[in-house]
Amino acid sequence: MAGEKEIKEIYDNGMKILEELTSNAYEIQEQMLEEILIRNAGTEYLSRFFVHGQNHKQNFKANVPIVTYEDIKPYIDRIANGETSSILFADPITQFIQSTGTSGGKPKLIPMTAESFEKRMVKPLLVDLVMKKCISGLDQGKSFYLFFVKPEMETPSGLMASLYTTSYFKTQIFKNGLAKFCTSPIDTILCLDNKQSMYCQLLTGLLLRDEVVRIGSSFASVLARSIKFLEDYWKELCSNIRTGFLSDWIADPACRNAMSSILTRPEPELADLIQQICEDKSWEGIIKELWPEVKCISSIVTGSMSQYIPLLEFYGGGIPLVSPNCGSSEACFGINLKPLSKPFDVSYTILPNMAYFEFLPVNNDGGGKSREFKLRGASATESSESTNETTTVNKPVDLANVKIGRYYEVVVTTLAGLYRYRVGDVLKVTGFYNKSPQFQFVERQNVVLSIDLDKTTEVDLSKAITKAKLVLEPLGIMLTTYSSYADTSLTPGRYVLFWELKMKGSNDLPKLDAKIMEECCGIVEESFDFTYKSLRKGGVISALELRVVKHGTFDELMDFYVSKGASISQYKPPCCLKSEEAVKILNLGMVGTFFSPKTMF
Ligand code: AMP
Repeated sequence: MAGEKEIKEIYDNGMKILEELTSNAYEIQEQMLEEILIRNAGTEYLSRFFVHGQNHKQNFKANVPIVTYEDIKPYIDRIANGETSSILFADPITQFIQSTGTSGGKPKLIPMTAESFEKRMVKPLLVDLVMKKCISGLDQGKSFYLFFVKPEMETPSGLMASLYTTSYFKTQIFKNGLAKFCTSPIDTILCLDNKQSMYCQLLTGLLLRDEVVRIGSSFASVLARSIKFLEDYWKELCSNIRTGFLSDWIADPACRNAMSSILTRPEPELADLIQQICEDKSWEGIIKELWPEVKCISSIVTGSMSQYIPLLEFYGGGIPLVSPNCGSSEACFGINLKPLSKPFDVSYTILPNMAYFEFLPVNNDGGGKSREFKLRGASATESSESTNETTTVNKPVDLANVKIGRYYEVVVTTLAGLYRYRVGDVLKVTGFYNKSPQFQFVERQNVVLSIDLDKTTEVDLSKAITKAKLVLEPLGIMLTTYSSYADTSLTPGRYVLFWELKMKGSNDLPKLDAKIMEECCGIVEESFDFTYKSLRKGGVISALELRVVKHGTFDELMDFYVSKGASISQYKPPCCLKSEEAVKILNLGMVGTFFSPKTMF
């Protein structure tokens, strides 16, 4: 699957392929599981759970435990250190995909086979096809996508580990397919220096502004960062456009070479126009002004990325925001078949050929702590000595048995050696497209803040902040992004929130009224759960603190994580900080600190 013929086949027949996949979702899932088990029943990992006399599927459902990354890490480490990959999967593992791990976790190494990599490459083409079908004019221009790569790493076994996107951007299917419709030359995308890459991609996007019909990035955080970069560099970009010369600090030879065929002559009129637009104090609607033909902004804006919706709506000036797909390094879950649905209404449709999916029921609001199924383990029968898998009370259901309105944590069995693996994401089933479930992305199901017995999840935090920021909206104040940490340097400890605030019409820092900010702290605490409130009442946790930071502080945080090896293109701002250095960076941008009223509880 690399040639132009296959790409054409998807563009010609993609909608039919989607219909077939979704109409036969159950059968495809069953066949896929069967195939995975037939091929891999004899592997060291699976054979431990297979009892003679039972068929593969019986064995699988009854005995194979539900695991987290930590459970299979010993196997992955052995493969990374040079043992044969057949301990986990019959087909050879050809590379590892690194998960970004910027949301508090460490990067994981996800095994990948040639077949599973190839299968996945079809997804971006299907996403593109659906968007082009649903948004008129999208096939009549170029996409200004901001894409970035991260250096690959060689494991002791010689297998390479890289981000999925980094590997993907190097494939023929990308070069022959989507890249042809992108403004950014491949060499600027593949440049390992993110700053040079960003500069060249923005410069190209500006030079080709009349051709641009779509602007985007994988995650909304990247687009927000790119707009901040434009704020910092538009004068220099205009100067390059005016003179026709690329700045000297763009030293990467491949970037310079690629730009030489795009920045070919002085364009003073274009430079004047861009300058005039960027000089405006308010950048409201700037995307529409800079790229007048843009039909949509394509970037993941669900889950933790929803915090960027107000910002992108502000800069977009009414251009629809499209959240195209949902997935992880482990597997692609689904794509958005209604790209024009409002960001908070987005549902993704499961692609049943991407993995074998199971769904662990979680409690009714998708978050919180009552969802206490014991981790790791599928049935109440077996547990293994070699891992610390335990049993669970909640049984997973398969794709055919999910119920509309219910919340589930997604569990995948992949074509590359993950068996009943908890990805950690919670989805809410919203309907079906043919036989394929559709879901809203709820949140990553992890505890982010904890003091004593309290465990506050990402969902709890985001819900609380969503409520509190409503107080600021009538004042024209925008919360552009947030983070938090548990400050236990004093006893009792407290939760600290960092909020980056700006005025709606400009990047100016809002006037902060202590009373209003304290009210926000109160609303956050009020919406935390019973455990938090009783610990707070009992003096085990002290009053919540809110530190307001100035515009651009979170970009410095992103730069910090990128300098530590995070990928810019898959960057997700950590909703909770674990590193002291990160806390220091945000503290440096602090312009005000507020506390919840002491007498609140
Ligand atoms: P990574 O494996 O590093 O690419 O990160 C994948 C994670 O990004 C997923 O497990 C989700 O938590 C998050 N993610 C991916 N797609 C979406 C989406 N459409 N909406 C919200 N979060 C997403």
